[in-house]
Amino acid sequence: MKGASATTSLSTDEQFAVPGFDAVARLAAGTLKVPLVSLILSGGDAFWFTSDPRGAAQAVPQLNGLYLDAARRSTAQVVLDTRGDERFTHATLAIGLVSAPIRFFASEPVFTLSGQQVGALCVMDHAPHTDLGEAERAALRDAAALAGTSVVLGSYIGRTDPVTQLPHRNAFFGDLHEQFHDGVGHVWLTAIEVAPVERFNAFVRAMGHAYADELMRGVAERIRSWLTPGMRLYQVGVTRFAVLLSNSHGLLDTGRLDDLVARLRQPFECLSIPLTIQPGVGLLKVDEAELRTGDPLRLVMSASHEAQHSESGWALYDRDQDERHRHEFFLVTELAAALTERTELDLHYQPRIDLDTGRCVAVEALARWQHPTLGMVPPTEFIRLAESAGLMRSLTQWVLDHGVAQLAAWRREGHDIQLSLNVSSADFGADLVTRLEAAASRHGVNPRLLELEFTESTLMLHSDATRSHLAAIRQLGTGIAIDDFGTGYSNLNSLRQMPATCLKIDQSFVRAIDANPHDAAIVRSVADLARDLGFRVVVEGVETQRVLDAVLGMSCDEVQGFHLARPMPARALPGWLAGHSPATIRRSR
Ligand code: C2E
Ligand code: CA
Ligand code: CA
Repeated sequence: MKGASATTSLSTDEQFAVPGFDAVARLAAGTLKVPLVSLILSGGDAFWFTSDPRGAAQAVPQLNGLYLDAARRSTAQVVLDTRGDERFTHATLAIGLVSAPIRFFASEPVFTLSGQQVGALCVMDHAPHTDLGEAERAALRDAAALAGTSVVLGSYIGRTDPVTQLPHRNAFFGDLHEQFHDGVGHVWLTAIEVAPVERFNAFVRAMGHAYADELMRGVAERIRSWLTPGMRLYQVGVTRFAVLLSNSHGLLDTGRLDDLVARLRQPFECLSIPLTIQPGVGLLKVDEAELRTGDPLRLVMSASHEAQHSESGWALYDRDQDERHRHEFFLVTELAAALTERTELDLHYQPRIDLDTGRCVAVEALARWQHPTLGMVPPTEFIRLAESAGLMRSLTQWVLDHGVAQLAAWRREGHDIQLSLNVSSADFGADLVTRLEAAASRHGVNPRLLELEFTESTLMLHSDATRSHLAAIRQLGTGIAIDDFGTGYSNLNSLRQMPATCLKIDQSFVRAIDANPHDAAIVRSVADLARDLGFRVVVEGVETQRVLDAVLGMSCDEVQGFHLARPMPARALPGWLAGHSPATIRRSR
C-alpha cells in the first residue's frame, strides 16, 4: 500500500520528526481498513498519514479542539458513526484536492515507556464503521505503543526533550543560526547548569530517575518564570539549559542574573522531598564570526561551570580562564597518554653528597616529561595536574618501576649508591607498601637501598591514619625523608613523632645562608634539632661554593644542589661519578 504523509502543526511550536511514524501509520491503516491516521502530540504537533493515492491529508482548523482533546485524554475513544456527535459537525478532511466529512473516528492515548502521556494516535475514515472488533482495538493499541517509542526516539535524536518537553540542543543551534540569517549582529546566550555532574548522578542513584525527571521539570519551570518575551529556553544537556536572547535584555544589570540565581537556589520540592541544587549561570555575547569558527555553547557552559562554585552563582565568559582550563585539560589527557605509552617520560637523577666522605651516596629520582609539541613540562606543573586528575598512582608506579630498575643496573655495574623517590599525598595508602616491596623484589634490589620522600605537609595531613603505613615502610628497611622541611606548619612535637629517618631542609632557607644571618640561624638550629631527634639532615639547593662552605660548618650530613650536580639523565651518571672527586667537598676533620 502506498502512502503519503505530512506534518502539520496545530500550534506554532517547534517541529520534529517521529522516526518510523509512516510505518506505524501504514500498519494501523491496513489493519483497521482506514485511509487516514494521525499522531497528535500533547504540545500540539500533528503528523498525518494517508493511504489514499490522491495525496496528503489536511485538517481544517475547526478540528483542532477535537484533536487536542484526544491528545490529552488518557483513555481510548471510538466513534463508529460521527453523525449525531456535535463535535464532528464541521469535521471535514481534505485528501489531496477532495474534501469530505469524517464519519468514523477512533483514538488511543500514546505513552512513553516511562508512562508519561505524550499524545494520541487517531484513525479516521470518510465512511462510518459498523464495528471495531477486539483484534482491531488491539492493533490500534499496539500501533499507539509503537508510536510512543517513536516519539521518544524522535525527541532524543531530534529536537525536544522527553522530560521537560523543551527544545533540544539541535533546535538551539538551528535557531542560533537562524538569528544570524535574520541579520542580527550578535546574540546573547545564557547557560544554566543545575548541579555538578557527580552531584546530579548522586541524586539519581539515591532517589531514582523519576525524581530526577521531576527535578528537571521543576528547574525548567523556575527558569520559565524568569524569562521575559524574546527569550527562548532550551534543554541542551541532561543537567543543562540554555537561553537564547536577541539582545542583552538588561542582563548586564546584574540584578536580573541575581534574581535567576536566587530563584534556582530556593529549595525544590520533588515528590515531597526537598532538595537544593547548586546552580551556575553563564552569560556570553556571540557574534556571527564566532559562531562560524567556534562552539558558543561550550564557551557559555565554561562560564556556567565556573559560576557554580562562585558566591554570586553567575559569571560572564572569561576567555583567559577558559584558555587555562583547556590547556590543563589538554595536559591531563596528554599526560594520561604519556603514562600509557611511556615514551615521553623519563627520570633524571641528582646526586646527594655525604659531607663526611665527600662521596655520592645516593641519587634522587626526578620525573621529566618531554611533550612532543609543548617541550619540557616542569614537574611542579604536571605533578599538580596528576594529583588533581587522579593520575598520581600510575605516575608513581612508573617512577618506582623505572627508578628501581635503573638502581639495580647501576649496582650491577658496581656503583655503591642508593635511590630516593618522591611520593605524593595521593599515593598514601595501604598498597604503597605492597607496591614498594613488589618493585624492589622484581628488580632484585634490597628495600634498604631505597628512600621515599614525602613533603612535610603530606606527612602532617595524614598524621594518624598513615602512621602504620609509614611503620610498615620502615619495617622493610626503606628510609623515609621529610621533604621541603620548613614550608609546612609542623610543630616540633609532631616532628618528634614522625617515623622518618631523614629531614631535607627546604631550598628557600638555604639559598642565601652565606649572606643572610637570619636564614643561616634557621638552618643551623633546624639541623641541630633534627640531628638530636635522630634524623639524617640533608641540605637542598646548594647553588654556590659559599653556601656549601656555610653548610659545612653546620650539623648537616648531606648536601644536594646545582653547585654539586644538576639532575642528569641516567646515562650521564656513571661519567659524573667517575669524574667526581670527594676530597673537594668533604668536611675537613
Ligand atoms: P623536590 O622533591 O624538592 O626536588 C628538588 C627540586 O629542586 C628539583 O626540581 C631539582 O631539580 C631542584 N634543585 C636541585 N638542586 C637545586 C639548586 O641548587 N637550585 C635550585 N634552584 N633548584 C634545585 P624539579 O626536578 O623541577 O622538581 C620539582 C618538584 O617536583 C620536586 O621537588 C618534587 O616535589 C616534584 N617531583 C619531581 N619528580 C617527582 C616524582 O617523580 N614524583 C613526585 N611525587 N614528585 C616529583
Ligand atoms: Ca624531593
Ligand atoms: Ca625538596
